[in-house]
Amino acid sequence: GLTEKLSAAFKRLRGKGRLTEADVKEAMKEIRMALLEADVNFKVVKQFVATVTERAVGSDVLESLTPAQMIVKIVNEELTALMGGESTKLTISPKPPTVVMLVGLNGAGKTTNGAKLAGFLKKQGKRPLLVACDTFRPAAITQLEVVGGQVDVPVFQMGQIDPIDIARAGIEHAKSHGNDIVFIDTAGRLHVDQELMDQLRDMKAAIDPTEILLIVDAMIGQDAVNAAKAFDEALDITGVMLTKLDGDARGGAALSIKAVTGKPIKFVGQGEKLDQVDIFYPDRMASRILGMGDVLSLIEKAQQTFDAKKAAELEEKLRKNRFTLADFYDQLVQLKSMGSLTDIAGMLPGVNGKALEGASVDESALSRTEAIILSMTPAEREDPSLLNNSRKKRIAAGSGTQVVDINRLLKQFEMMQQMSKQFSGKQLKRMGKMGKL
Ligand code: GDP
Ligand code: MG
Repeated sequence: GLTEKLSAAFKRLRGKGRLTEADVKEAMKEIRMALLEADVNFKVVKQFVATVTERAVGSDVLESLTPAQMIVKIVNEELTALMGGESTKLTISPKPPTVVMLVGLNGAGKTTNGAKLAGFLKKQGKRPLLVACDTFRPAAITQLEVVGGQVDVPVFQMGQIDPIDIARAGIEHAKSHGNDIVFIDTAGRLHVDQELMDQLRDMKAAIDPTEILLIVDAMIGQDAVNAAKAFDEALDITGVMLTKLDGDARGGAALSIKAVTGKPIKFVGQGEKLDQVDIFYPDRMASRILGMGDVLSLIEKAQQTFDAKKAAELEEKLRKNRFTLADFYDQLVQLKSMGSLTDIAGMLPGVNGKALEGASVDESALSRTEAIILSMTPAEREDPSLLNNSRKKRIAAGSGTQVVDINRLLKQFEMMQQMSKQFSGKQLKRMGKMGKL
């Protein structure tokens, strides 16, 4: 699925020292494929890839943890923007009742999700009414009465007479009974057809609804987008509710609908149960599509933790090739303040937290290193060549370590200093941020 494909694309980027235009292009190729396979409209994909590429190549990778995470962040933000950015509320009529026409193809979930929405709004203090205007299928009225009963919302019905008459009467009923929001359950068809569109257009003209909410089944992918386009062209819908997101929906519909129709997804249905309904949050959906575990919260954490001023100072020192144990210590503290290294690694997608236990990340070694550096005098931290045997013994005693631990640390530090002569300051600093120092 999209999730795995994107993870794979990012995995290849992870660990690279410098993000080149070629890297971005390569990752974008994968992302493009993944989105197309997820049934995202090809025009949408083209635009999306162009936007992300432009931002990624031009962006300052220095400010993020790793180049890969920088791309994840940009992709996430652009996915969110693609789906409308913010969540969009149901329009409430200043003159009650608010009238919501539920339209869509057969099986999309109009009837059940009408009840879900009514129940959802009832919990928020509204007084909804469900109106049974699907006179096309005989069982539809009974179905609405059953689900309405389950959410404890009254259902208005007049049998199988002209649906426009029922809708009008239902709205009058709401006015006289204090119902402030009316959901009109309408008939669908198997496919988009002219007769259905004509009927719905007539109903729209007759009742002038506050909202025309199109119910679409997320599992039908690109067909959902085509349906949305057809309904919008015929009826000028005001919003979309995407149902069956609990199934193995590929995410393509959610991504394309706003871009193709310009109309926001307002609600989602996430199960057959009548309380499985929620407002649509583009950012949550983007994270879900990315499926990058908690990688986004990791990025946030890292960005909050990393002190930009310290980074600038460090870069200055590196440029002068004066990377001291004191700087090393600062790096360690920053690393530690981000939380447990095992936790951090566990937040990365594709990394099994269990497998990490006691494995590659040796936190006690980090603590030992920290203790050693803390036991040094400032002068020793600036110039480790001062460290003769008696000084080492003093530090070992002070830090609860052995002289061999100190020698090991000094050897590592020496290697790092050599590296700092070979690498540019920027690269070394980035490595520090990746936790390799
Ligand atoms: P309508 O023909 O548009 O009125 O569709 P219905 O409301 O009768 O729903 C068709 C089927 O989809 C029913 O079996 C519903 O229980 C099911 N359904 C509706 N919404 C969801 C959802 O969000 N998740 C799942 N899994 N099933 C849903
Ligand atoms: Mg129905």
